[in-house]
Amino acid sequence: MNMKSFSHISIRWKLTGLIVIISSISLLLASLAFITSDRINTRRTVANNLATMAEIIAANSSAALLFGDRVAAQETLGFLQSQKYIQAAAIYEINNSVFASYRKSGVNIKLPEIGIQPENTLFWGDYVELFIHINYQGEQIGVVYLRSNMQAVHDRLIWFLGIVVVVLLASLLVTFILSTRLQRIITDPLLGLSSIARQIRNEKNYSLRVIGEGRDELGNLITDFNTMLDEIQSRDNELRENRSQLEERVMQRTRELEIANSELATSKKQAESVARRMKYHAHHDALTGLPNRILLNDRITTELAHARRKQGMVAVLFLDLDRFKIINDSLGHPVGDQLLRIIARRLGKCIREEDTVARLGGDEFMVLLPNINGSSDAGRVARKVIDCLVDPISCNGHQLHITTSIGISIYPYDGTDSETLIKHADISMYRAKELGRNKAVYFTAEMNAGSRKQLALETSLRQAISRNELKLLYQPKIDTSRNMIVGVEALLRWKHPGMGMISPLEFIPAAEASGLIDPIGEWVMKTAFTQLKQWHLAGHSALTVAFNLSSAQLSRPGFEEVVEKALQFADLDASMTELEITENIAMENLESAIIVLEKLKNLGISIAMDDFGTGYSSLSYLRRLPIDVVKIDQSFVREIPDSSEDVLIAQAIIAMAQSLKLSLIVEGVENVRQLNFFKQQGCNLMQGFLFSKAVEPEEISRLLAAQTIPGLVNLVK
Ligand code: C2E
Ligand code: MG
Ligand code: MG
Repeated sequence: MNMKSFSHISIRWKLTGLIVIISSISLLLASLAFITSDRINTRRTVANNLATMAEIIAANSSAALLFGDRVAAQETLGFLQSQKYIQAAAIYEINNSVFASYRKSGVNIKLPEIGIQPENTLFWGDYVELFIHINYQGEQIGVVYLRSNMQAVHDRLIWFLGIVVVVLLASLLVTFILSTRLQRIITDPLLGLSSIARQIRNEKNYSLRVIGEGRDELGNLITDFNTMLDEIQSRDNELRENRSQLEERVMQRTRELEIANSELATSKKQAESVARRMKYHAHHDALTGLPNRILLNDRITTELAHARRKQGMVAVLFLDLDRFKIINDSLGHPVGDQLLRIIARRLGKCIREEDTVARLGGDEFMVLLPNINGSSDAGRVARKVIDCLVDPISCNGHQLHITTSIGISIYPYDGTDSETLIKHADISMYRAKELGRNKAVYFTAEMNAGSRKQLALETSLRQAISRNELKLLYQPKIDTSRNMIVGVEALLRWKHPGMGMISPLEFIPAAEASGLIDPIGEWVMKTAFTQLKQWHLAGHSALTVAFNLSSAQLSRPGFEEVVEKALQFADLDASMTELEITENIAMENLESAIIVLEKLKNLGISIAMDDFGTGYSSLSYLRRLPIDVVKIDQSFVREIPDSSEDVLIAQAIIAMAQSLKLSLIVEGVENVRQLNFFKQQGCNLMQGFLFSKAVEPEEISRLLAAQTIPGLVNLVK
């Protein structure tokens, strides 16, 4: 039988069954032994009884035999009738003849014929025969034969078997009862153990213990089980503790990650907004928000390509406000600026959506008409533009009348590229001015013979140096942490005998185009360096000077020698000078710019990135340039701290400068709120109208000597 078939029976029943089976087997074996021994004894007793009876018969019948008294012999056998097991008996003479016999009534048995035999007891299946000799005076005279059935043995056996069965049953019952109780000694602890194990499994409660003691195997098992539970519980506690620590850490980390994520999202948003704003600044005029020259150039190029494909026409209108300078000079820059903003709005309103109005700088605007059907369309738009300025403009309480002169050039007649079209529109605008202003003039081929404006400007520029019309003004650079002037920026002016003070923004392009920029640049350096030397000699030896550079100058071969010569001329240490370039100048020819700037830097000159943020600011380019200083452009400063976007841009530029380990100068600081903002950001070097405009060198000497900084109350060195 397969052991597995018992596996579903409980250990209790197994034990009970085992005990019952073992005790039954032992009882059976014991009974068998008893029965066997009893059977042997009974048979012996039967044989002995038979022998006793036979001896009595032999003793009582010897005389009868001797005397041949068959009747006496027969009487001797007569008592056998009372013996219920005796079936037959006979007395044989020595000659084997039956002398007397007895048969139990109802029993038909044949007497054995061999009377004379050795004394013997023979057990047959269900009867026993006995032969004993009848002796007289030592001589055998006959044989007594007795036959008894085995009823006595059988009766006893049956009686015995009955006893055995009763005893067996009784003992089985007792065994069963006892075993069911006794097996508990073993099974109770085991069941307790298993029930606790189950409970632990279900409830995961490792603090449960099995109750029970003892020194036997079960006791040891319980002790070991409890010890194991102790171990599991302590591990469980440890695990729990670790898990809760882990969960705590995970939660903390999650919180941190969430914070970091939201910070990241915010800074990403800020970065995107900064990037958008910077892109906007690079392509728009800060004052009016109109597209600037860069964006206009892009649009003209795109529209020209389009017109080329469609064989269409494109018009470019060059606008210059008439006598704007007078307003600006007489009423001041703020009024001038406001006027420009209003005009920009008016211009925007009087053209179609697909047209572009751009501000090129100063009082110059440009209108791009991408889709005209003929030249006359351009004239009509120009007329509209002139008309839209007819109404007086109210500005700071002034009613201002302003007109504009417009030059028109048309693709494909007057040029096929952006530069030519703008140049020709510019020339024709000057023609409009000559013709009495407030007019629009188409470009004609004759005008190309030479822009009179350009020529005039160039001619007078040529004389400007020799006539001493150029001069340098200086704007102080303030270290607001120490409240002192640490340097000056040299800013060029042209005092034209007829036109008054002309801004470098106006005449530098002409100087570049004519090549006059070289002598002018050289003059600027010599003058500025000499002036600085004088200040040094006057005791302000830590003062530095910054000078500006145009792209034409930087790309001129041997430029660094010119700088070196100017330094020698003034006997000035290069480390006291700072060269300012704009991003666009550097980017125009990046590789050669890097080489030249490296050389200048090797001389000891420090390099500043001027108007930072308005050009093609690309960090990867910036990294390659050997820059020491970044000047945040005034367009980002103007609205600080009110414009949150400008605040972000300023912060981004500051962070970038810090990460590139560059020093930082803030340009165009005009009020105390701007000053405070940048001071809070850790930018202490500033320049702007709050402290001083660009002033004559004598004024700087005075400021240095007085050790006061104008515009700042109580800011004394
Ligand atoms: P820049 O180098 O960025 O010079 C700063 C300009 O901002 C100067 O105008 C200065 O007068 C003006 N400015 C300074 N503080 C403030 C302020 O608080 N508010 C406002 N609204 N403006 C302020 P400026 O003198 O007309 O010069 C214009 C540009 O002409 C200069 O810009 C520079 O790029 C160029 N430039 C000036 N001198 C030279 C020169 O000698 N050579 C060359 N190649 N370019 C020059
Ligand atoms: Mg500058
Ligand atoms: Mg600047």
